[in-house]
Parts: sequence; structure tokens; C-alpha cells
Amino acid sequence: MKDDNCIFCKIANGEIPSATVYEDEDFRVILDLGPASKGHCLILPKHHFADICALDDEIGAKALPLAAKIGVAMKRSLGCTGFNMVQNNGTSAGQTVFHFHIHVIPRYDGGPDMVSWTPGHMESEELAAVAEQIKKEL
Ligand code: 5GP
Ligand code: ZN
Repeated sequence: MKDDNCIFCKIANGEIPSATVYEDEDFRVILDLGPASKGHCLILPKHHFADICALDDEIGAKALPLAAKIGVAMKRSLGCTGFNMVQNNGTSAGQTVFHFHIHVIPRYDGGPDMVSWTPGHMESEELAAVAEQIKKEL
């Protein structure tokens, strides 16, 4: 299933050229045009899924091992010592391309702190109440 208006559908299926590091029948892995660090990759399924909520279970199950494989190759080839996986769902979460993708971002010793937040604080009663709120919808 492809969406004719989706740029990642076109890239994943080879209609638009990209710097491809890996391809199989389900996925294409490309370099991000605006990399957060050298080697920043995007894992793109070849079928169109708007986000993780729309993702097919079988493709989802293959995506994490593929991200690990890419991360290991980055460490061996680029000399990074770690990597972040980032996966945005929804505009408020920073998603700008509405075709499911996983960012795999190499991290280098001494490099910038790229994926971080300031830890907040919540009392245990409030944590329990929030957990109950979410649980009700599962
Ligand atoms: P999002 O913000 O949706 O999680 O991530 C979208 C990512 O896609 C961004 O990091 C952006 O740089 C990248 N991107 C957007 N358009 C293109 C493109 O045409 N080619 C490539 N290689 N990356 C793109
Ligand atoms: Zn698409």
C-alpha cells in the first residue's frame, strides 16, 4: 500500500533517489537529509503507515532488530560509541513526515547532548493516578 502524496513512499520504493544504506523487501534505510550527527539514518517501511499506531504488527516486529543491525554497523564503520533511536508520532511529538520511520542517530564520545530532557517530579500518589488513567484505555 502506497500513498501517492507521500515523499517517504516514493523514497522507500526508489522513485526518488536517496543515500541508501540498506534495502530488503520490507524496508529501505536511508541517510537523513538534515542529519543530527554523521550517519543519521531513517528506517522506512516500503508500505505506507502514517505512524506507529497504524503500523502492521509483522513490519513492527522486524523494525527493532533492523535498527539494532544498523546501529552495530554504525559503530563498526563510523566509530560512534552509541546511538539513539527516535520515533515521533504526531505533530506535538515533532513528527513532520507522516510515514512511519525510526531515526537511528549515531552518538560520538564528547559529542553534543542531542536527545535529552529535564527530569520533572511527581509524587507517588500522582504517579499511581496517572498509571490508572492510562491502564483504563488499554
Ligand atoms: P520526523 O520529524 O517526521 O520524525 O522526521 C522527518 C525526518 O526526515 C527529518 O529528520 C528530515 O530531515 C528528514 N527528511 C525530510 N525530507 C527528507 C527527504 O526528502 N530525504 C531525506 N533523506 N530525509 C528527509
Ligand atoms: Zn508513505
